[in-house]
Amino acid sequence: MGGTFDPIHHGHLVAASEAASRFGLDEVVFVPTGEPWQKADKQVSPAEHRYLMTVVATASNPRFTVSRVDIDREGPTYTIDTLRDLREQRPDDELFFITGADALAQILSWKDIGELWDLAHFIGVTRPGYHLSETGLPDDKVTLQEVPAMAISSTDCRQRVADGDPVWYLVPDGVVQYINKYELYTDDRE
Ligand code: ATP
Ligand code: MG
Repeated sequence: MGGTFDPIHHGHLVAASEAASRFGLDEVVFVPTGEPWQKADKQVSPAEHRYLMTVVATASNPRFTVSRVDIDREGPTYTIDTLRDLREQRPDDELFFITGADALAQILSWKDIGELWDLAHFIGVTRPGYHLSETGLPDDKVTLQEVPAMAISSTDCRQRVADGDPVWYLVPDGVVQYINKYELYTDDRE
């Protein structure tokens, strides 16, 4: 599961859990992006903070792990590179790439789109009632997965912290404490 995870929240975790359950996945690898090129115009927290929050949030689940492939690679993150690296590390595994349906719509702008389809099956997590036919994506390569906690977003969590509003129960307890400890998002104004 790829994401900026700035911060990771329960929407991400529910999405991962639902996809794992539906597809019988042995493991969900969370992959925090390096420099997210789609967000190049926005302020993104340092990769180490985003990585550590993801580790904190997933630590208690034996099937959840976190990969550094994107944050250790130089330059902007492209999903094709993520999948090539994961394929190299796990030559015998069947790969599924979990991402938001919003991000899947952008998939068509990704480089090397043809090879992408060969590397993984794509799972687009979405709010109830969103249909694949609206995305124009091939339905043998992409599955949409409805997720109940979809209303949570990192943008909203950051804004709440900046406004002094609580993020308890939107993000895992350890992530609330991590944000407070390092005073993240206190000067976010959007
Ligand atoms: P931001 O508000 O900064 O864009 P975000 O909440 O969308 O952050 P990302 O790290 O960008 O979080 O998300 C990674 C992936 O998870 C994206 O593809 C996104 O669509 C998906 N996602 C985000 N929030 C949810 C949610 N509540 N339920 C299911 N999927 C989500
Ligand atoms: Mg987003």
